Amino acid sequence: MIKREQFGVWQGSPVYKYVLQDKIEAEIVTFGGTLVSLKVPNAQGGLTDVSLGYSCVEQMWQSTAYLGATIGRCGNRIADGKFVLDGKTYLLAKNDGENHLHGGTQGFNKRLFDAEVNGNGVTMSLHSADGEENYPGDLDFSVKFTVEGTTFTIEYFGKCGANTLFNPTNHAYFNLDGDGDVHQNVLQIFASKYLPVDSSLIPTGEERCVAGSAFDFTQPKPIGKDVCAKDEQLALAGGYDHNFCLDGAHAARAFSPKTGIVLDCFTDRCGLQFYSGNFLNEQAKKYYPKRSGFCLETQCYPNAINQSEWLQPVLKKGENFYSKTQYVFSVGKI
Ligand code: BGC
Repeated sequence: MIKREQFGVWQGSPVYKYVLQDKIEAEIVTFGGTLVSLKVPNAQGGLTDVSLGYSCVEQMWQSTAYLGATIGRCGNRIADGKFVLDGKTYLLAKNDGENHLHGGTQGFNKRLFDAEVNGNGVTMSLHSADGEENYPGDLDFSVKFTVEGTTFTIEYFGKCGANTLFNPTNHAYFNLDGDGDVHQNVLQIFASKYLPVDSSLIPTGEERCVAGSAFDFTQPKPIGKDVCAKDEQLALAGGYDHNFCLDGAHAARAFSPKTGIVLDCFTDRCGLQFYSGNFLNEQAKKYYPKRSGFCLETQCYPNAINQSEWLQPVLKKGENFYSKTQYVFSVGKI
């Protein structure tokens, strides 16, 4: 079942909230294609809102936390806001120190989408003009959110009039306890390697084995177990804020001993940014302090366009882009 309600107004246009309901309930707003609530069954027989969210458009416009937002054109960082495509150099906004982050100063998270209901999903679309945020090519973008049973699916579609850089994702922050910090949330990431970063959080190019380090989530462990461990990489990022090189389509599992909620994340992307909410300090639906949510952002490796040996997040002129990520909820234990 899908309901539509007005959420607010942006520059004279209505902003809508779509409520997608089955055994779980997702609320998505047309400003930024933003997830503002995700209620899932808990072991106590009730529902827990496991996602951090905004309560109004003004918060979304002002915030730099990207709570639940659709990210585009290119997720994560691009070193020095610079890349070369087909021999031409493109200079992007440096909106994170010297680097470009999450699509720039007005990425998709700060755009108003059109929306259309299809079956048990809602498709949100926008047109990104040639040169928008200095990215090349006229891009038609849409993202479809579907709720079916206890599965929340996000599908991304794109088509561009020129070769372009394209790496959309979603920036949902999860807290399977429903509140407090996420240190007791148990996490498993199906990745035997991760990407170490430099002091500006750009991957150095090395693919490092997680074995024997704080980054080893191949067996489930509480996020808080090693987050403060003595580790040069944790110190650089103030916690986890790293891309994991996925071994397969089952990217991660998370579990709350408090609510019994289990989350399984599946994706067709090769990378997963595990961000432990180190910089969070946000007044939204409620106050979200540091580590009150964690992100599992499915993506191509950050700054891949400047690392030619990695899969390139390039969408060729006229080709149809398609990608899918699913978050599946259950109650149990991992
Ligand atoms: C990045 C963090 C950044 C956050 C923005 C994450 O995807 O990896 O470094 O601070 O987004 O809220």
